[in-house]
Amino acid sequence: MEYDELLSKIMKEKKTGRGDRFAPPQVNIMISGQKTVISADILAKYINRPVAHIAKYLMHELTAPGQIDSTGKIIMGGKFSRHLVQDKLDAYVKEYVICKQCKSPDTQMKKVDNNYIITCLGCGAEYPVGRIK
Ligand SMILES: [Zn+2]
Repeated sequence: MEYDELLSKIMKEKKTGRGDRFAPPQVNIMISGQKTVISADILAKYINRPVAHIAKYLMHELTAPGQIDSTGKIIMGGKFSRHLVQDKLDAYVKEYVICKQCKSPDTQMKKVDNNYIITCLGCGAEYPVGRIK
């Protein structure tokens, strides 16, 4: 298969029926006792970001402690609604995955010194993103 053909196939698979909107896989969010378990491993693989970075973002946004279990699930201390967690995950994807220039989800994130740089595989844009405190 030609590279261009392969690329358009990947792009097609990443798009949904709803126009060009990028739809990451559904994340299973479950409240268990006083904890919220977020199965972010599939999402992390799909968007090519480390689970640890997503966890850090959620901890910051929800101002709650969190950890990652051996299967890649994020365990947040505290009960958070599925709706709230999904909103945060959507915001994460918007901030750290979708190219700010061409809106392509095909981007890579790399750490340079103490900053994260997003590189877009679609348009070649390269820009820093904010650090999660
Ligand atoms: Zn781009």
